[in-house]
Amino acid sequence: MVAFKTLDDLGDVSGKRALVRVDLNVPMQDGRVTDDTRLRATLPTVTELADKGAIVLLLAHFGRPKAPTPEYSLAQIRHAYESVLGRPVRYIDWEGDEAAVAALGPGEVAILENTRFFGGEEKNDPAVVERFAHLGDLYVNDAFSAAHRAHASTEGLAHRLPAYAGRAMEAELKALEQALGHPERPVAAVVGGAKVSTKLDVLQHLVGKVDHLIIGGGMANTFLAARGVNVGRSLAEHDLAGTAEEILGAAERANCTVHLPYDVVVAKEFAPNPPTLRTCNVHEVGADEMILDIGPAAVEALADVLKNVRTLVWNGPLGAFETPPFDAATVALARTAAALTQEGSLVSVAGGGDTVAALNHAGVAGDFTFVSTAGGAFLEWMEGRELPGVAALTH
Ligand code: ADP
Ligand code: MG
Repeated sequence: MVAFKTLDDLGDVSGKRALVRVDLNVPMQDGRVTDDTRLRATLPTVTELADKGAIVLLLAHFGRPKAPTPEYSLAQIRHAYESVLGRPVRYIDWEGDEAAVAALGPGEVAILENTRFFGGEEKNDPAVVERFAHLGDLYVNDAFSAAHRAHASTEGLAHRLPAYAGRAMEAELKALEQALGHPERPVAAVVGGAKVSTKLDVLQHLVGKVDHLIIGGGMANTFLAARGVNVGRSLAEHDLAGTAEEILGAAERANCTVHLPYDVVVAKEFAPNPPTLRTCNVHEVGADEMILDIGPAAVEALADVLKNVRTLVWNGPLGAFETPPFDAATVALARTAAALTQEGSLVSVAGGGDTVAALNHAGVAGDFTFVSTAGGAFLEWMEGRELPGVAALTH
């Protein structure tokens, strides 16, 4: 386990200025925050620091601004954040920020303006690191979702000020460590989603790490096609047949059992509950049919696999889950994983934008051990990469 400091190591922070990197990159519509999940994720850290008397200065990016414009100003988030936090929140822009920070007292919370209003933020420019560092006495990184970027506010600052992982970062790192770092074996991974090409590095890394690799979704079609199965008009990357074979070979050498479906749900058109819907063996897919989900026999076999493993990591839905009934396999297997987790036989960690949506759709996101909302950072972690924002905390 990589060692990093947490808020437990802080000591007396009363009156100290804490620069806290958080994720405030929330979806907005007509000036309103439409999903405040990310805001709520910052509460344990921000509340704890404020209660200990720190001056809490939140650093975050918002969108991809090309220049400082009101459209990308974090001033828009202030009121939503205030109501989530339940205490007053100040907003400080990049003009007169030093005086504004100096005017704050212990326990006060302020949102500093969008870090990306500085062109050098994304270049990890030492001048921008210095600009931020000047405002604080210590640095807390609580934004795992931005940790795959080596930016001034996510990486540079950790080398410049005493650096600590916030509570959300700490929870995420502990869960990921439990899932793939030093997991209890046997370990299974579910990898689904649309395309093999977007998750090649994930598959290559996982075959050397897990005991069971369960492949579903459009990616399963590519693997089936590589093995000579006729997948009809299914979404499949036929040009990746060689790559798929290489992954299967690497899995065999690493003693990783790959599970591909033996039955599938097909239709001639991709629409809700289409009249041509049927379930068949993978070898019976018609030339004019598309595989849109894995079948019930496959799901049953996979549920048996999950019953015999101790750890599960899941990225990617097993079928086109947004369109009924092609959500059936994903929902069924997610419920099995959730039940096993609740019974105490399984540690389950899941992540990925569509995966989180699918688990919410199945109503079981809260029953997994940990669900990461980090998107890109979660995938890079599944690829086995070192995340610069995390590495900087362990220097
Ligand atoms: P995540 O965001 O969790 O990493 P992906 O973006 O890789 O997941 O994949 C999710 C998408 O894959 C979903 O939109 C889903 O509809 C699609 N998908 C899954 N199985 C199939 C299939 N058999 N045919 C077409 N699309 C599929
Ligand atoms: Mg996606």
